[in-house]
Amino acid sequence: MIIQRVVLNSRPGKNGVPVAENFRLEQSTIADTVQEGQVRVKTLYLSVDPYMRCRMNEDTGSDYLQPWQLSQVADGGGIGVVEESKHKNLAKGDFVTSFTWPWQTEAILDGDLLQKLVPQLVNGRLSYFLGAAGITGLTALLGVREKGHVAAGANQTMVVSGAAGACGSLAGQIGHLEGCSRVVGIAGTDEKCSILVQEMGFDAAINYKKGDVAKQLRELCPAGVDVYFDNVGGDISDTVISQMNQNSHIILCGQISQYNKDVPYPPPLPPDIEKIQKERNITRERFLVLNYMDKQEASVLQLCQWIQEGKLKVRETVVEGLANIGAAFQSMMNGGNIGKQIVSVSK
Ligand code: NAP
Repeated sequence: MIIQRVVLNSRPGKNGVPVAENFRLEQSTIADTVQEGQVRVKTLYLSVDPYMRCRMNEDTGSDYLQPWQLSQVADGGGIGVVEESKHKNLAKGDFVTSFTWPWQTEAILDGDLLQKLVPQLVNGRLSYFLGAAGITGLTALLGVREKGHVAAGANQTMVVSGAAGACGSLAGQIGHLEGCSRVVGIAGTDEKCSILVQEMGFDAAINYKKGDVAKQLRELCPAGVDVYFDNVGGDISDTVISQMNQNSHIILCGQISQYNKDVPYPPPLPPDIEKIQKERNITRERFLVLNYMDKQEASVLQLCQWIQEGKLKVRETVVEGLANIGAAFQSMMNGGNIGKQIVSVSK
């Protein structure tokens, strides 16, 4: 059977900025028959995520990420519909997902590696299972719960960097839902800042590309910062950490500002900032959502409930067509739109 697929065309180099041309669309084939235990699926949605930047390097820099190989099909979070099944628990028409979905229009996959989805949990918005009700939402929720030390009634101020991104936009809302009294976001455009405040309930947002971030942060967090959900690292994080309180907590979610640089993860703090961190007893433990998969089921149900109740506002940008996935990845790495970036493959 003839299919379309997207392969890694070239590597950007450890210090290079990824571009759409690092990927190539090509025609390929899959077997005509499905073996016992397998299913044939039609791809509906694919996720583009910052961690994929590391998979573009020959050495990903972490033991849990495998590099993509040149001229081999790329993969990541995906959702599809079963077209033919020889797996005991999956039937034609079932919606399924996997973290290692190949970037191709149709595929034959091992049914044991797929999770069945219940569309009603997200009011039929299937793509949410790649974002707010998927790994992104889990990262925000479990990051806050496992590393944030948020306590209802404790009058805590949370700051979120990368706040308009898929994780950040949820993390700030979850900060409020879990009991923070004040949540301030940091994002790269005025439009993103205004959506964070007007639609997602952030108390304030700072455009880090305009004005003095340290000064604005001091004004907007008069009681200092108790919890910092860090998606970006670099100068922004140094500025926030300088204003953190004694015994406060960093949720070390990601360091996207450093992903096109050949530095270890997590990148060490500059000496003066590290001194502040140590003197003020600020925790900065590495957080990896995949270490908490025993909490996945209950956490997804919590996220779905908040979505259904309208307590968690979700934004996503859906790019049409497998041929555009490289461009979607490039755009996401350059800031993208607010919320989660998804590629729809069905059309
Ligand atoms: P995303 O949707 O692409 O959002 C990232 C946001 O960061 C964007 O809104 C972007 O917009 C901002 N940004 C990009 N480059 C920046 C820079 N150089 N300086 C400051 N801001 C920048 O990504 P995501 O899915 O939310 O992921 C966010 C972070 O979480 C990433 O670092 C990712 O690796 C990490 N992550 C970690 C885990 C885990 O288990 N620890 C799991 C999933 C994701 P603006 O610049 O316009 O604000």
